[in-house]
Amino acid sequence: MNTTLSLDWRSQADSLVIDGRAFVDGRRVAAGGQPPRPTVSPVDGRFLAELTACGSADVDVAVAAARRAFPAWSRVGAEARKGVLLALAALMERHADELALLETLDSGKPILQTTTVDVPGAISTLRWYAEAADKQAGELPAVPPGATALVTREPLGVVAAIVPWNFPLEIAVWKLAPALAAGNTLVLKPAEQTSLSVLRLAELAAEAGLPDGVLNVVTGSGREVGAALAHHMDVDALAFTGSTAVSRTLLEASGRSNLKRLSLEAGGKSSNIVFADTEDLAAAAAKAAFGAYYNQGQVCSANSRILVQREVHDEFAALLATAAAGYAPEDPLAGLGGNGALISSTHADDVERWIVRGRADGEVLFGGERREIRGSDAYLEPTLLGGLPADHDVHREEIFGPVAVLQPFDTEAEAVRLANATDYGLAASVWTSNLSRAHRVAGELLAGTVSVNTVDALGNTTPFGGFKQSGFGRDLSLHAFDNYTAPKTTWIQFG
Ligand code: NAD
Repeated sequence: MNTTLSLDWRSQADSLVIDGRAFVDGRRVAAGGQPPRPTVSPVDGRFLAELTACGSADVDVAVAAARRAFPAWSRVGAEARKGVLLALAALMERHADELALLETLDSGKPILQTTTVDVPGAISTLRWYAEAADKQAGELPAVPPGATALVTREPLGVVAAIVPWNFPLEIAVWKLAPALAAGNTLVLKPAEQTSLSVLRLAELAAEAGLPDGVLNVVTGSGREVGAALAHHMDVDALAFTGSTAVSRTLLEASGRSNLKRLSLEAGGKSSNIVFADTEDLAAAAAKAAFGAYYNQGQVCSANSRILVQREVHDEFAALLATAAAGYAPEDPLAGLGGNGALISSTHADDVERWIVRGRADGEVLFGGERREIRGSDAYLEPTLLGGLPADHDVHREEIFGPVAVLQPFDTEAEAVRLANATDYGLAASVWTSNLSRAHRVAGELLAGTVSVNTVDALGNTTPFGGFKQSGFGRDLSLHAFDNYTAPKTTWIQFG
C-alpha cells in the first residue's frame, strides 16, 4: 500500500489490509507453534489481523537465519550499512501515514500523535544511527615501545530485542538502529498487542535492500517467543524494554544459558518536583500534565508523582486540573487533541483498580472515570489522586495509566527523600528558578535523566535508561552502541 492517505482516517482504517504474519529470513511466514491469534484494536474493538503465534521452533529458524546473515552484514562495511538504513528511513517516510495508522489501530494512540511523534521520531532515530555508523573510530592506547595496540569495536553477532507495547515502533527502532548500524543481525519480538507496525517496517527494510536474515520479526507471546530467545544458546545479546518482573526472568535465563549480554530498560515511578520559586507555575502545570498523562500515562518515565512545595500546592493543583483537561480521551481516529485508548480494556481495569484504592485511602482530586468511545471501554480520564500516606503503594508502584498522585512537601531535603523513595530510578524533573538548587537537587536524585524546568527530556543525542531497578544499559545516543558491540584489542609486536 502506498501513501499518502487522505485525512479521513476512519475510512482509511476500514479499507486497510493488514498482514499479521511473522517476518523471517526476508519474507513473511505463516509458521507458528500454535494457531494464529486474532488481534483487535483498543480504539473500537475492530478485528485487525490474525497474528502468527510463533513457537520455539520458529525462533530457532529466525536465529539460524540471523546467524547465516551475520558474517556478510558485519563485513560489508559501515558505509554500506548506513546506505541501507538511510534507504529504509526514506521508505518509512513514504509510508509514514500507513505506519501511523497501523500504530494507532494497534495501540490506541491518537492519530495526531502517531503522525507527528511516533513515526517521525522512529525515522529520525533511524537516520541518526545510520549517520553514526561510519563515524565511529577506534583507539590507539599507549603501550610499551615495540608494539602497537588497536582497540576496535566489534559487533556481537545475533542480537535479540524484546520490546513493549507503549511505543512499539519507536522503541523497536531504538534497538534495531544501533544494533544493525554496528553490524549485528537481529531477531525482534514485538509485544503481542502491538506487532503490526514493526512487521511492516521489516518488509520495508527488505525493500530498502536489507539482506535476508539481517532483521527478523517473530510474533507471539512473551512466555513462548520471548522466553525462547532469552534461553537461546545462539543469541549473543538481548536488548529488552519492559517490566522489571520480566527483566528478572531474562537475567536468570542468561545465567542458565550462554551468559548472553543484557541491556534492560525496565519500569519507573518518576517524580516531578515543583518548588515554590518556580518562575512560571502555569507552564510547570502544563508540562506536569504532559509528563503524567501523555500516551495515556503509559510511559515508563511518566512523571506520575507530582511533589509540590506546600506554599504553592493549592494554586498548582488548580492549574494542573485545567491543563489535564487537554488529555481527556477522544476518538483516536478523529484527528483531535486529547488522549486515546489505553492498550486494552483489561489494562484499563487494572488502572481503574488503582483509582479505587486511591479513592478509598485518600481522594480523587480530578478525573477517575471510565469512558466508552465507539463501543470500546479502554478509555480513562486523566486522574489525580491526593491525600495518601507517604508510604502508600500509589507513591511507589508503577500504575502505567493516566493516574498521577500529588504530594505536598516543605523542604528541599524532604523533596529529595520522597523522590528517591522508590525502587526505580529512570527519570525525575525539577522546577525552580534557583540555579544552585537546580544543580544540588539534580545531583542528589537517583535517576538516569533529570529534567530541569521541563519534564521527561530526551533526544537522539542523550542516553536514556535507569538506575536501581529501572535496569541498566542505555538506549539512544552513542552510548547505545555499548549494548551491541564489544571492544577488541589487537596487539601487534614489532620490536
Ligand atoms: P512486559 O515486561 O510484560 O512485556 C514487555 C515485552 O516482554 C513484551 O514483548 C512481552 O511479550 C515480553 N515478555 C513477557 N513475558 C516474557 C518472558 N517471560 N520472557 C521474555 N519476554 C517476555 O511489559 P509491558 O506490559 O509490555 O510494558 C510495560 C512495562 O514496560 C512497564 O513496566 C514499563 O515501565 C516498561 N517500559 C520501560 C521502558 C524503558 O525504557 N525503561 C519503556 C517502555 C516501557
